[in-house]
Formats: sequence, structure tokens, C-alpha cells
Amino acid sequence: MHHEHLADLLFPDITKLPSDYEALYPERRLAPTALVTRLGPSPTGFIHLGNLYGALADERLAHQSDGVFFLRIEDTDSKREVAGAAEAIIEALNYFGIQFDEGVCQTGERGDYGPYRQSDRTDIYHCFARDLVRRGLAYPCFCSEAELANQRSKQEAAGDNPGYYGEWALCRTTLSIDDIESRLAKRQPYVLRFRSPGSAEKNFTLTDGIRGELSMPENIQDIVLLKQNGVPTYHFAHVVDDHLMRTTHGIRGEEWLSSLPIHIQLFQALSWQPPVYCHTTVLMKMEDGVRRKLSKRNDPEMALSYYRSLGYHPAAVREYLMTILNSNYEEWRLANPELPLTDFAFTTDKMSSSGMLFDIDKLNDVSKETLARLNDSVLCDFLLEWAGQWQPERANILAADPAKLTRILGMDRHSEKPRKDLIYGEQILEHIDYFYDEWFVQRDAFPETVQETDRLAILEAYLAGYDQTDDRTTWFDKIRSLAEANGFAARPKDYKKNPDQYKGHVGDVSTVIRIALMGRSNSPDLWEIQQIMGEDMTKRRLYSTIQLLR
Ligand code: GLU
Repeated sequence: MHHEHLADLLFPDITKLPSDYEALYPERRLAPTALVTRLGPSPTGFIHLGNLYGALADERLAHQSDGVFFLRIEDTDSKREVAGAAEAIIEALNYFGIQFDEGVCQTGERGDYGPYRQSDRTDIYHCFARDLVRRGLAYPCFCSEAELANQRSKQEAAGDNPGYYGEWALCRTTLSIDDIESRLAKRQPYVLRFRSPGSAEKNFTLTDGIRGELSMPENIQDIVLLKQNGVPTYHFAHVVDDHLMRTTHGIRGEEWLSSLPIHIQLFQALSWQPPVYCHTTVLMKMEDGVRRKLSKRNDPEMALSYYRSLGYHPAAVREYLMTILNSNYEEWRLANPELPLTDFAFTTDKMSSSGMLFDIDKLNDVSKETLARLNDSVLCDFLLEWAGQWQPERANILAADPAKLTRILGMDRHSEKPRKDLIYGEQILEHIDYFYDEWFVQRDAFPETVQETDRLAILEAYLAGYDQTDDRTTWFDKIRSLAEANGFAARPKDYKKNPDQYKGHVGDVSTVIRIALMGRSNSPDLWEIQQIMGEDMTKRRLYSTIQLLR
């Protein structure tokens, strides 16, 4: 009976019953096969690649099963909270195209299972905390930090495990209801602890969605449910939330695996079914031949801003994340190059349980393939938007003629074997900078094999005979005759047969022209480049190189 009394003492203002919340948040009306997943980031200021890849797994599992994916902001640790971090998370998910159905959003909240910010759910947590007290499963603990530290030293000296459990759980065993009442009357601060029913000798088993069957020792710690300020711990808050929000699958980082026994016990104490927990593994990277954990602090590629500032297309990042999320994704993609990623049947059991290797070269390869599939105007819009945000000065130059940019991006991309050398914004700009006078630089030198006098002669003759309206065949025939007229073979094979008869071959001639026009010896189709550059720029570039050579 004194449990009822204690519950009233601790939670005088709580009027709702657990059954009220059960009625307010009923089972979702979804097909039995539909999954409900959530992303529960803490707004501590840094959303990283690990969050994003978890979010993609959540999103895929929910949406491919016609379920629900929601965003819950887990802001119970106000000390670590960073202003604007929740907004940054929402914006990042939006940018990378990971859609959620419910939760905290830019304009507030949407969905029937909110509030979706833990800081707005205090009454709900208190209602269930009160219920645990009423049933003798939770109690107030008045031990101070100093007392707990003192106890930890004693435990160390005795070789016992640290923590609040068994005979060490003083407030569990020694406080009478009168003691509690008088301490409360004196406003002595307290935390609310769970009265763990666990036994150190017993193990329990459960099936993790990624790791399969796990056997773990039962929890025996009387963990904190509510801190001194009444704010719940992650352990308690997420259990209440995942139940009331009707989560079916809880995908989260492996750092939570060790507290799984606590969570399972809390679910049992509240007579609820836990979600299928899916503990992902850490992202690793190869460095000097050794695998190591990617670090939020030391590896710039962990920050999502890294990909955004360099201008990786969100579709490329999603595509790459899929290859590390599901081991059979690449095989599927090879067989289905044209299908949207959403057609792939994503499963938790194809997720790695032993560390996923993050490889930037692989991301770049995936990005090349992804960009090769995007149409020219989509790529153009993306590049303009990206440059507008990260390179405003260059964006102005690009935006002056979007049609030109679209043509540049479309070069050699529509054949059977499209070119696949575009990777990310920054790299693309470097790749195409010769189309813009503002950025034109002489990157490569003229081929050593062509004498200076020949360089000049070639360019002078080429400029004299240049006609913008020549079709590709006429244009190339002219280059061939120009080559011959200057002592170069019109065909490489002629040169190979009789190298002594020629100064070089037609390829050397076009390299000289390339250097003058683009400042580089390799480029996509020269004729097409001139068509895009236009007569004026083409002639101007030839002329100024001739001036330099004279
Ligand atoms: N707030 C937790 C974190 O940021 C979320 C863990 C979970 O998804 O359950 O790690």
C-alpha cells in the first residue's frame, strides 16, 4: 500500500493514467508486415555519416513495407544541446533526400503520435514513472554525487562491479516511507531509480535484427529513470517513446548494445513488447593497410558538410550508402542499372555486423555511375544550386548561360558508352573550367615532340581555315590535310609504318590545337567543344596562343 502513497507523494500533479496514453496513441492501423522506424538523434550539433546511413536504413525499411518513418528529437541532455542543431538535422535529411513521415519538421511537428521532442513529453514519462513507483518497481534515491563516488571507491577496493545494485543500492534497501517523506519535506534532491528484478546469474536471449540471436546477462543495476530535475534518461525515455509511438524496429548504433539488458528489462517491467532492435556496426576506414574506426573528431569525411561543400550529388551519396548497408546491393545494381534504388529489397539481415568499410574511392566510383545516369538538365540545376551555396562567385559565371552549362555537362554522355568522369561539383568545375575565360589556364605544356615552329605553323593554318559551320567530317578532313601539309601523317597507322617519313601524326596536331583551346592535352570531343565554345572564343584562344608563340 505504501507504494501508492509514495507515487502520490512523488507525482502529485500527474493525473493521467497509462491507459489514457494507450488510448491516445493506439496501435497504428497498418498492415501486419508494415514496419515503423525512427531516427532519434540528439541535437548535439553534429550530424554525421553514421546518422545518415542509419536514417537511410530506417527510411527504406519503413517505406518499402508501407510503414512509417518518424523523426524524434532526443533532447534530454540539455548540457550537450547546441542551438539550431535539430533544424540542421532536418535540413540535412531533406538535402540528402531521406523523407520522413512524422515527427519534428521545419514548420513544427506532424503526426498523431507526438509530441516528437522528448523535452515536450515530460508528463508522459512522469505518468509511467509514477506507475512503476505505484507497482514497487521504482524508488527515489537521495544519494549525493559524493556518496556515490565514495561508494565507487569502496567497490573498487572490494573488487566488486561498480554501480547501484544489490546490497550497494542503499536507498532501495534502507529507506522507510517515513524517511522518504521527511527527506521530501526537506526538499532533498533525489533521482528516481528502477528497482531491477534481474539476477547476475541469469542470461536472457533475444534476436537482434542484424546480429541474430544474442544471449546476454540480465541487468542488475538500479539505473536512473528520472534525473534530479525530473528529466528522463535515454534508457527510460526511448522505451516509453518506442512503445507509445508504436515503433516496430529500433535501428541504432552498436554503442547501445551493452545497455540492451536494461532496455529489455524496462519493457518487461512495463509489460510491453520491445521493438526488434537492430544494432548497426561502426564505419571503418583503411589507413596504411590497417582498418580503423572512423572518428567524428578526426576524419573530415564523417561530417555531412564534407560531401555538401564538395558538391556530391545526394543521389550518389544515397547510392553509396546502400552499397555499404546491404551486402547484396551492388550485385543488384549491376543487374538493374536503370531501376530506382527504391526497387531494391532492403533487409536487416544483409547488414554487416562486423564493421563496414567506408572508402572514398568507392564513393567516387559510385558517384561517376550515378551522375552518368542523371539527365543533363538535372545535373545542371544541381551544379548551379550547389555553386550558388558554396561558390557564389563561380555560380554567377555559370548561371549567366545555363544552356551552355547543360551542353557542356551533356558532352559524350549520350552514347552507348557514356563518359563517366564527372564525380562531384568541385571536381566538375575543374573539369570544365576551360569553357570560361575567367578560369582558363594553360595546364599542360605543348608536346615536346612538336617543334616550336611547327606549333605555330599548325595553329596559324588551323585558324586561317577555321569555319564554325563545318560539320564533324569536314572539320576532321581539314585537320588531316593540315597535318599532311606540315609533314605529319594523316593517320596514326601511316606514321607507325614509316616513322622516319613524318614529324609525327594527326594526333600530335590535334594535341597542339587542344593545348591552345583548352590548355590541356586530353579532353572530350574537340569538335563538340568548339561548337559549345562558339566561334568567337575558339578564334580568340587560337589567336592569343599564336601571339605568344610568335
Ligand atoms: N539519441 C540516441 C543517439 O543519438 C539515439 C539512439 C536510438 O536511436 O535509440 O545515439
